[in-house]
Amino acid sequence: MSIGILALQGDFAAHAEALARLGAETSLVKTAEEVLAAGAIVLPGGESTTMWKLMEGTGIPEALVAAAQAGKPVYGTCAGAILLARTVTNPDGQGLGVLDATVQRNAYGRQLDSTVLSLTDVNTRVLGDAPMEAVFIRAPRFAAVGPGVEVLARREGSPVLVRQANILAATFHPELTGDDRVAKLFLESVAGAGRKAAA
Ligand code: GLN
Repeated sequence: MSIGILALQGDFAAHAEALARLGAETSLVKTAEEVLAAGAIVLPGGESTTMWKLMEGTGIPEALVAAAQAGKPVYGTCAGAILLARTVTNPDGQGLGVLDATVQRNAYGRQLDSTVLSLTDVNTRVLGDAPMEAVFIRAPRFAAVGPGVEVLARREGSPVLVRQANILAATFHPELTGDDRVAKLFLESVAGAGRKAAA
């Protein structure tokens, strides 16, 4: 199952490296055709407004929605999570609408702009017992999530890692630490989609 990493802007190279560490092959995708050809998609961190500008008129947003709705595994971090959301605030903006969540951008103010935290409120059944080191960079916050959204980790009570069927989204950057548990979760869903396609 081919994994395409959207490579218009942001830390797509870090995602490629993190997935390569786990033995996964990826390709960098930059067009709607490449998005449609991929079996799974990664939306990196970066700047969501810039990503929207670069996607304008390319057909990529429609291709991403089609991929998500077709049940292909989709994994977004930080700006990538913002792209996936149904509702975007602060300022109000666009979202692809495939993740039933409201995302507040730059939610932690200037002083706490960027921080490394040890998340202790994690779903141990899915992620194991160890606290998760999490890098937040001008991070958004999931202000609300719908009933079909499973919360896998929280920071100060707010969801920071969520899963809705084939969609996985983090407001932090698992690709920037050595903790590969979130990437592994994505790869499990890629493997599951591959088995389904083969059956
Ligand atoms: N603040 C950025 C945005 O609103 C996201 C930051 C990130 O991806 N590290 O798009």
